Amino acid sequence: MLMNTYPPPAVTFVRGEGSRLWDTEGHSYLDFVGGVAVCSLGHAHPAVAEAVSRQARTLLHVSNLYGTTVGAEVAATLDRLIGGGIGGGIGGGIGGGRVFFANSGAEANECAIKLARKWAGAGRYAVISAERSFHGRTLATLHATGQFQRHPPFQPLPEGFRHVPYGSLDALAAAVAAPDVAAVLLETIQGEGGVWPAPPGYLEGARRLCDEVGVLLMVDEVQTGLGRTGRWFGFEHHGVRPDVVTVAKALGNGVPIGACWARAEVADAFVPGDHATTLGGQPLATSAARAVLRTMEEEDVPGRAAGAGERLVAGLSKLAGVVEVRGRGLLLGVELPPDRPAADVAAAALSCGLLVNPVQPTTLRLLPSLLVTDDEVDEAVSILEDVL
Ligand code: PLP
Repeated sequence: MLMNTYPPPAVTFVRGEGSRLWDTEGHSYLDFVGGVAVCSLGHAHPAVAEAVSRQARTLLHVSNLYGTTVGAEVAATLDRLIGGGIGGGIGGGIGGGRVFFANSGAEANECAIKLARKWAGAGRYAVISAERSFHGRTLATLHATGQFQRHPPFQPLPEGFRHVPYGSLDALAAAVAAPDVAAVLLETIQGEGGVWPAPPGYLEGARRLCDEVGVLLMVDEVQTGLGRTGRWFGFEHHGVRPDVVTVAKALGNGVPIGACWARAEVADAFVPGDHATTLGGQPLATSAARAVLRTMEEEDVPGRAAGAGERLVAGLSKLAGVVEVRGRGLLLGVELPPDRPAADVAAAALSCGLLVNPVQPTTLRLLPSLLVTDDEVDEAVSILEDVL
């Protein structure tokens, strides 16, 4: 028996290929949830399947007490993509940064929070995050998460987290002025919160404010990162350079892995013993990540996501019963009228063979594979049209 942390599933899947899933009865479904932004290359992608099976026959795990070649290679690629992604590295090596591998998004954010505290030094520990944000379910990342209804059962949560309204630079300016602040932690689009993109100028302003008071700008790209928004990272749409970036979800296309990147001067705050993980960065996960990053680079997957996203937005925006379509690339929120519960629409879509996620009471979230075809986009729009 599983713990009672998720509602009973409506369907049980046994197989997937690309954007399609098959259930135990043999019915097929179009998957526009993608394992919650994880399966960005679709299900059973041949490059990932081949990399993982080859690695399983070669070397699964030795712990971080020893080196592995795959992890070092993936770290270098992430460093190039994150640190060098917008006009060259920040200083130091190719991208000017270093990577810590974890097993999930929450763990990647835990690393970021610990790193910020170590970097800032005694007495400076507070992390400012946004209302409606989501950063994970560990005690610290739960407190960073600005969805207050989730906090009460787990009090006392670790100290040192404060929240500001997403988009208000005045509120952020007031918050970072406190002498105990170490970092600001923001999403570029609030995914779990209901798909709310950062308003124009917000991230640029946040960067300026962090620089003025000497605190870190940490960007949580766990959901938005690795092509999902039509560029490699959400922060690239805003032309800012974060000090710390976290990724997970799509990095393993289904194999658990997370990563925390920090520019070298920040990363250097950690010395051996400060942070560790037994499984993080082991060859099975990093071989999947290497195949994911290679495929994404070779096939310009972020560019394909941008194109497919435009087609999907155009199709959805024309539907009767759609109030608004928010988001970027293939991280889209479909706002429904107040009397149209998203959960009911998602259930009806499921029975018509389409998976969509009711992320908020009247918001559906769409997170298809970044390799979704035009025909699949059109099919999903047509199913939603019928359902609505
Ligand atoms: N950060 C963001 C922005 C997320 O969307 C999520 C998960 O949805 C997390 C962190 C937590 O990731 P994980 O569930 O892998 O711990």
